Amino acid sequence: GLVDQGLQWAADFPILDRPIRGRRLVYLDNGATTQKPRTVIDAESRYYLEDNANIHRGVHWLSQHATDLYEAGRERVRGLLNAARSDEIVFTRGTTEAINLVAQSWGPANLQAGDEILLTAMEHHSNIVPWQMLAARTGAVIKVVPISDSGELDMDAFHSLLGARTRLVASAHVSNALGTINPVDEIVRAAHAAGALVLLDGAQAVAHQAVDVQALGCDFYAFSGHKLYGPTGIGALYGRHELLQAMPPWQGGGDMIRTVAFEGSTYADVPQRFEAGTPNIAGVVGLDAAIAYVQHVGLDAIEAHEQELLAYGTEALSDIKGLRLIGTARHKAAILSFVVEGIHPHDLGTILDMEGVAIRAGHHCAMPLMTRYGIPGTARASLALYNRPADIDALAAAVRKAIDLFNGGSKA
Ligand code: PMP
Repeated sequence: GLVDQGLQWAADFPILDRPIRGRRLVYLDNGATTQKPRTVIDAESRYYLEDNANIHRGVHWLSQHATDLYEAGRERVRGLLNAARSDEIVFTRGTTEAINLVAQSWGPANLQAGDEILLTAMEHHSNIVPWQMLAARTGAVIKVVPISDSGELDMDAFHSLLGARTRLVASAHVSNALGTINPVDEIVRAAHAAGALVLLDGAQAVAHQAVDVQALGCDFYAFSGHKLYGPTGIGALYGRHELLQAMPPWQGGGDMIRTVAFEGSTYADVPQRFEAGTPNIAGVVGLDAAIAYVQHVGLDAIEAHEQELLAYGTEALSDIKGLRLIGTARHKAAILSFVVEGIHPHDLGTILDMEGVAIRAGHHCAMPLMTRYGIPGTARASLALYNRPADIDALAAAVRKAIDLFNGGSKA
């Protein structure tokens, strides 16, 4: 059952044994970053203990070995996303860098003044600001798909905003602030029919459900390793081969060239063309281990577990008077975003922290979304595979305690 599975998986994560403020750590800030299983920590440490060398350049054994580990990581990411080819995977620092790569490489080469980039009202700043920078550079125009009060995309508006000038639709697969799982199949189908490309921000998706970029048919897909039980500073961009192949480099340096002369340089094939400089080799090794871990547990099992917990949590929080859930989409990942009458989200977060409950409070890097709801921010509990009903119970109890505290305080 739910409890056994959460408990069994929690045992793989050493940090969860660490008491915080003298209590068991109730970690519900997985949308910000997940904890790491021992296998990931060991893989990265073993890499430095036994396998460290620079890649793609050494004639010596260790360098070739490190290159093999790095390329095995690329193959592992290919498998995670079910991309057709491993050279469709570019390693980046994370989602943010993956989106900036597309904005800075694909963007200027393909956009003209008046061309349109279609975003949604629930985007993370990392899927807004790079496009604003690109728009400023090219004269392209940004349009925004509105959402309903429940936090679902207004698909009628989407279809009417999609026009002859739309070149790119950039959308979250799963919203980090609401949990909404967007209808990405429909988005891709309609965008392609209109002659536009689609970039999906998968930062909040890949750890919680199986993703298949070929089935989705998207053109670009970005994610971060650290939200997938892997290390920080590593992530990936999937790009369809013919698109990547036609894109100019964005950063220059070693490893991304074929020949260099002062008269001019020629560039390496993809994906090396987009990986200038010594990459985060240890990070790739850790990411490889993280993906191996979720594949071992099974993404379908993870999804089922988290969906059960989401239902349990939704009910537990709905019972609390004065609490309002923000984001009640029919298709939701295990994110519980909420506001409590009369308590600022930051105060709520601080009181919960005293109880050993780690959540995030604030705008979640989605300020336009908060503006849409007319709130300064939310308190957000975001779940992962190691969470269990006791974590939800602790959350609900801590929220009730905060309400009592505030009510008592104002009465006094
Ligand atoms: N998009 C979404 C939906 C996110 O949740 C995040 C991280 N909060 C990002 C993008 C940015 O990811 P990173 O900071 O790892 O680049």
